[in-house]
Amino acid sequence: MRWRPSPTSGSKTPLRGTVPDEFLVKLRAWVDTRFTSRNCSSATRGIGPGCTRKLIQTTKSALIVFEFSSFRLFSKFHRRQMSVIFLGVALVLVEGMAGNEKRISIYSPVADYSLNVIDRDGREYVGLLEVLEPIGSVSAKVDHENWKLRFNSIEAQFTNGNAHARVRSKDVDLSARFILDNGRGLVPMDSLVTLLPQFIGIPVVFHVNSRRLFISEAGTTYTAEMNKSTPGKLVLNFSRPVNPSISTEPGKLRMSFLRDPLLPSGPQTVTYNEKEISSTTFQESNGAAELTITGSVPLLASFSNDGRTITIASAPGAAPAAAPVAQAPALPSTITAAPAAPPVTPSAPPATSRFIVMIDASHGGDERGAALSDKLAEKDVTLAFARRIRQELETRGIPALVLRDGDATLSLDQRTASVNAQHPVLYIGVHAANNSSGVRVYTAMIPPDLGPRGPFLAWDAAQSSSLGISQLSAAVIVTELRKKIPARTLAGPVPPLKNITVPAIAIEVAPQGRDIADLTSPDYQALVATAIATGLETMKPRLEGRR
Ligand SMILES: [Zn+2]
Repeated sequence: MRWRPSPTSGSKTPLRGTVPDEFLVKLRAWVDTRFTSRNCSSATRGIGPGCTRKLIQTTKSALIVFEFSSFRLFSKFHRRQMSVIFLGVALVLVEGMAGNEKRISIYSPVADYSLNVIDRDGREYVGLLEVLEPIGSVSAKVDHENWKLRFNSIEAQFTNGNAHARVRSKDVDLSARFILDNGRGLVPMDSLVTLLPQFIGIPVVFHVNSRRLFISEAGTTYTAEMNKSTPGKLVLNFSRPVNPSISTEPGKLRMSFLRDPLLPSGPQTVTYNEKEISSTTFQESNGAAELTITGSVPLLASFSNDGRTITIASAPGAAPAAAPVAQAPALPSTITAAPAAPPVTPSAPPATSRFIVMIDASHGGDERGAALSDKLAEKDVTLAFARRIRQELETRGIPALVLRDGDATLSLDQRTASVNAQHPVLYIGVHAANNSSGVRVYTAMIPPDLGPRGPFLAWDAAQSSSLGISQLSAAVIVTELRKKIPARTLAGPVPPLKNITVPAIAIEVAPQGRDIADLTSPDYQALVATAIATGLETMKPRLEGRR
């Protein structure tokens, strides 16, 4: 170690430059090895703040150890200068741990929690024990190069350096080698989408880019509405209580949702025709979702309705400013929101209805679907259409969920299990093609000898009791589509339609004419999505009547 106290070491910023990077790396690694799940297990049971507290405590003890050893090594330095350095390092480190560290957030019905992500071999890794611990009983032991894991009654074995693992005596392929690090089992983060279902038996939805993983969790949705009677008041209604941390900066109010599985139920950015508040934007990154409200005046957030409603309004005494950003308060402030503010009557009830349409963007992740052109993969087109259909349904007040809302690999079984567990009023599988024109709407083709027998439903005939309403939905949608584009209904062996218990259709979108560019055209996407949404609006009473 060869750093020297710099003349300006009183502030933490210059210290970043004076402390060698390898020292920080070593110190972090040291902390990391001690930050096993043991550190944040029983007491906190997967609840993030506890883990974070433990992490910071561990970091502090690590610093104390380093401080003592360094005092002996560098006794020629002035003690006060050394203390300043360590205080600076502590601030940099704790700040880094809390703010800039890569993390993954996992949302499940039993726990919502965040874990640190570790970079190895240029890839992102997570500790598998830590991932599983909050959702079941888990133990692991090291046997030479093997790591044996037990989750509830399921046995698994991983081998250091090997990308093949065994779970329930089945082979599972990881996207990269397994790493055994000081007794800690690290798996490539993106393999969780295939690995976790092996343990928990249900599919997961993984937003890989933003590192947010949903286990059998439909997510918390929200509506954002300008209060018509009181101008400049934005009312956000959430489907479940939320607890974001809120920060403000000139012209912006940010709400960061780390442990709330928040998902947008409409467009990511909504703009308003208001002087004080101009837009709401949803973003997700580094294991958190963020809602940013942009305005021309300092904004305040207040909670009501047991944390289900957040009302954004201009701060008392704030007047609309001519040069908004420049005249807003200069000091950023951060508060952790508590649902204890004066009650505000929400303008609309939270969307708790179980009437929900599930839209499945077929293919995804490693499975690209058809190559529609040299550059265009089916998986990207299906996602764009799925999101557009959701948006059109939401604007008609029909709640909708995109089953794969991101580039994730999901098996057909995972999709089917997720749909059958969540029981939507309708399942829409979305496909795209380049060898026809217009839209084909498919319903399941069930062999007649596979009808229900006895109390159990044959897996391949799960759709049979819903087939009639599926066919009616397809016909109504095709009638709407035909007003603008070629469309027809078909019965076909399109997976996973026959395995789905609720009404289910699949749409295959091809260009309107011969131009493949139609598939990526927002106008064409809107045309198709609008017709589907209009058709479903007509079908709503019928679909509702079945519940
Ligand atoms: Zn397809």
